[in-house]
Amino acid sequence: MSVYDSLGVRPIINANATLTKLGGSLMPPEVIQAMTEAARCFIDLHELQRAVGSRIAELTRNEAAYVSSGAASALALSTAACITGADLDLITRFPHLEGLRAEVIIHKSQRNGYDYAIRQTGATLIEIGTDEGASAADLENAISERTAAVFWFHGLLSKPGDLPLSEVIRIAHEHRIPVIVDGAAQLPPVSNLWYFTELGADLAIFSGGKDLRGPQSSGLILGRKDLIEACRLHGNPNHAFGRPMKVGKEEMVGLLAAVERYVHLDHDARERYCEETVEQWCAALNQISGVQAERSFPNEAGQPLPRCRVTIDAAVAGIERDAVVQALLDGNPAISVATNQQDGIYLNPMTLGQGEELVVQQRLIAVLQGE
Ligand SMILES: *Cc1c(COP(=O)(O)O)cnc(C)c1O
Repeated sequence: MSVYDSLGVRPIINANATLTKLGGSLMPPEVIQAMTEAARCFIDLHELQRAVGSRIAELTRNEAAYVSSGAASALALSTAACITGADLDLITRFPHLEGLRAEVIIHKSQRNGYDYAIRQTGATLIEIGTDEGASAADLENAISERTAAVFWFHGLLSKPGDLPLSEVIRIAHEHRIPVIVDGAAQLPPVSNLWYFTELGADLAIFSGGKDLRGPQSSGLILGRKDLIEACRLHGNPNHAFGRPMKVGKEEMVGLLAAVERYVHLDHDARERYCEETVEQWCAALNQISGVQAERSFPNEAGQPLPRCRVTIDAAVAGIERDAVVQALLDGNPAISVATNQQDGIYLNPMTLGQGEELVVQQRLIAVLQGE
């Protein structure tokens, strides 16, 4: 009996996305192995964080790296680091922000749920532009002696009308203000691990528990050595702002194993698997009346991988989209899929294990045929 069976919690096949509410992603054997080994003995946690950081920095072509407790905590820690720098007096006083530079500039068009993690430091978000984008003048006008950092949310959270990231970096750097890129879900491509910082971003943030398939509660901050040092001073095990965002030895070592695996992974083969799976789904589903299936690209986070968009004409198919989604989730095995507009679902191959693509296809066809 599995741990989940004994709790009465049903396993779910994830044909949706790397969603935290579904458990994010699954750790490959080498990550589990590294965590198991790490769990077997005591170490000096500061020393381990530094050693893991320097290996990850090397692997990702960055100056420095820090393992955080999820990308959300990376947003909070990196904001705190930009507000205080490595000044221990300020770090001890934090989050009392009187007299500190504690404004963070963000495109209005990029506001999203994750920016709570920036605001939880007490920093004030200064929005620039409109829902459609912003101009160089908007950014120039927002910068003041109170500015701590400029944030950039990459992927589908940035809009075509936004100031290009390279321009944001150029302008911010003219005023000696750091730029932080949230690329939490921007893997693949693997090159994003160095792309943002090579472009000039001071820090780049990634989720450890999405496509990297590291520990669920891990995140990665990459970039400037002095800012990473400030993150470290705010972070666990120091009695500071980041103490409640603990990162254990197992997560540190597990994330390193995940990054090592990811930079050496055959990403072309993985992409082929996704393309072939989507092609196979489209061919099978288009046989069913009232159903139209097609390749959709990029996926919901803007990652360069395809999904299958299935549109259901309820009048012809004899079943409503919502009923299909519910039946998949209630079925055996349970399957989670994403929805699209009123009548569509997305099937995502990127989170599936070997052979699950066929299970998803067969279950969906059975549900559509009223079985
Ligand atoms: C997923 C995500 C986060 C949070 O990542 P966690 O590792 O789950 O904390 C932050 N920002 C963006 C844009 C994300 O997509």
